[in-house]
Amino acid sequence: MTRAEHIRALQEEYARQRARNEADLERRTAQACALEPEIAQLRQESASLALKAMRSILNAQSIADRAQFAEDMKRRGRAINAEIRALLRKAGLSEDELEMRYRCDKCKDTGYVGDAPARFCDCFEMRLRLRQYEDGTMAGTQEQNFGTFDESRIPEADGQRQQLIKARNLCKAYADAFPDTDFKNLLLTGPGGLGKTFLLNCIFERVTTRGFSAVRITAFRMFEAMRQQHVGNDEKYQGFSELIEAPLLLIDDLGTEPMMRNITVEYLFTLLNERIAAKRHTVVATNLTPVQLNERYGERVASRLLDKGVCGAIQLKGKDLRKL
Ligand SMILES: [Zn+2]
Repeated sequence: MTRAEHIRALQEEYARQRARNEADLERRTAQACALEPEIAQLRQESASLALKAMRSILNAQSIADRAQFAEDMKRRGRAINAEIRALLRKAGLSEDELEMRYRCDKCKDTGYVGDAPARFCDCFEMRLRLRQYEDGTMAGTQEQNFGTFDESRIPEADGQRQQLIKARNLCKAYADAFPDTDFKNLLLTGPGGLGKTFLLNCIFERVTTRGFSAVRITAFRMFEAMRQQHVGNDEKYQGFSELIEAPLLLIDDLGTEPMMRNITVEYLFTLLNERIAAKRHTVVATNLTPVQLNERYGERVASRLLDKGVCGAIQLKGKDLRKL
């Protein structure tokens, strides 16, 4: 996909988000009206108020009358809003329950800020950058986040559930504290199907929801960025330098990328080394054991992945959750 295509697709995504916001508002309004039917009446009155006032203003005999009608309308409007807010409080809802809620307050989910010439909002720029890396196979953050973590699905036998809950708590503490985390890096290890990718996605969702920028990438796509850099395409592609500079980089499935001479090990070393030197945060999930990491990437890379001074390690064991 070219940049222009990504922009178009993203604009469509933003339009869907705005439609979701509208639907959310409608749903909240219906709920509030069901709890306090008077709210519906007041809203209706508020809607007809403007029309009535317009008619009165058109029929007014003098400028003074006109001003008076306009003033009356404003006062009644304010009174209605105050009544609605009081009813919302009474129903145990928040006062702004009937206001539109945005994913980004800065651009109100339009993706643009500023008057002509409008420019892309930071949230749009960030998503645009992420699109370059995100793999179609990566799960949506709507499905995989700390809120959808369902511990009842995890077998209790052999302490697997306890272990995953502990891992979840560690990841949550990391995501909530970011960027002031205990360890700069996290390494999630263990066989496939134990929830590593899920936890990685949870961290990504929480950190980006908190307004920080993060890049989530599969090792396979990371390798693509390295290869592009190696053949000198990086200026156009801007992949590898973005990976070095992302405040938080989450690499999933390390060990599944191709091993290409002069690329994989060398670029991975550069990436990890530069990120550690710049004190940036990196989260890695891998099926490989520490011994296998050492075998595959050599001591220089492994020592950076496993350095206990900068890296918190979470090791998962148990049954493949996808096969239960
Ligand atoms: Zn925005």
